Amino acid sequence: MSTNPAPQPPDPTRRPTPADRDRPTRSGVAIGLLTVALLVVALVTRGAGVVGIAVLFLIFVPMEKLFAFRPQKVFRRGFLTDMTHLLVNNILITVGLLVAIVVALIPFFWLRNLDIAASMPPAVAVVVALLIVLFGQYWAHRLTHTVPFLWRFHSVHHSIEDMDWLASARVHPLDQVFTHAAVVIPLYLLGFNAAVFGGVVVFFTFLALFQHANVRIRFPVVRWVINTPEWHHWHHALDPINKNFGTPAIDKLFGTAYMPHGKYPSGFGTSEPVPPVGYVRQLAYPFTTPARTGSGQR
Ligand SMILES: [Zn+2]
Repeated sequence: MSTNPAPQPPDPTRRPTPADRDRPTRSGVAIGLLTVALLVVALVTRGAGVVGIAVLFLIFVPMEKLFAFRPQKVFRRGFLTDMTHLLVNNILITVGLLVAIVVALIPFFWLRNLDIAASMPPAVAVVVALLIVLFGQYWAHRLTHTVPFLWRFHSVHHSIEDMDWLASARVHPLDQVFTHAAVVIPLYLLGFNAAVFGGVVVFFTFLALFQHANVRIRFPVVRWVINTPEWHHWHHALDPINKNFGTPAIDKLFGTAYMPHGKYPSGFGTSEPVPPVGYVRQLAYPFTTPARTGSGQR
C-alpha cells in the first residue's frame, strides 16, 4: 500500500520563490518571443548601433579577460536580455528626454531666452556646466534609491548579479529619463549648446560602460577623482548599500563615499524580485509590482 501523501492544492498565501519566477509560463514564453522580436528589429534598424556594439565588445571583452576581477563567462545569464537593453533603450530614453525637455520648456521658456550661458566667461561656463552635471547626477541617482516609486524603476539596474561592461545597459528607460533630465534640463534652460550635450553624453556613456566592467585595476589617485570599477562596484554591492551614488568627490561631500583599501564586495544584486531575464518583463516590472521602500530599507 502506498504511503505517499495525497497531493495538496496550491497554497494561495505562499510567497513566490526565485525558482517560481524562473519557471516558464505561457505569458513568459510570449514575452520571451516579444523580446527576441524587439532584438531582431533593433539589429535590423540600428546598423550604426550594431557596429558600435561590436567595437565595444572588442574593447571590453579582452580587457575583462586580461584583468578580470572575477572569473566570469562572457555569455552569462541575462546576456541576451542586456544586449536587448543596449540596442533598444537609447531610442526610448531619447524620446523620453525630448518629452521631458518640452514639458520643462512650457513654464520656463523665458529662462532659455535669457541665454545665461552665453553671458558667462567661458571658464565660468565650463565650471557651471560641470557642477550641474556632478550635482544633478548625484542627487537624481540618490533620489532613485530613497523615493520608493523611483526605486521600483532603478532596482531593475541593481538586479545585475554579474558585473561587466554589458551590465551598464540593464536600465529601465524611465529611470534613465529621470536621472538624465536632472542634468540635461538645467543645462538646456541655461542656454548651453549642443556641443556641451554631446560631450556630456559621450563621457557618461563610456564612464557607465567602464565603471561596471569586470576589471580589477585600481588606478591610484585617479580612483578618488573619477568613477572606476572599484568605486562603482561598491554601489552595486549587497552590503553595504546606498554608497557611491556619483563621483568620489561629491560622495565625500555628502558622506556617502565607501572604498575601503584592499576590500571588495562579496556579491552584487538586490533583494527586489526583479525578473532576472527578459527585456519586456524587466520593463513591465515597476508597473506590476507593489510599491516597496527604498533600497536602504529592506
Ligand atoms: Zn543605483
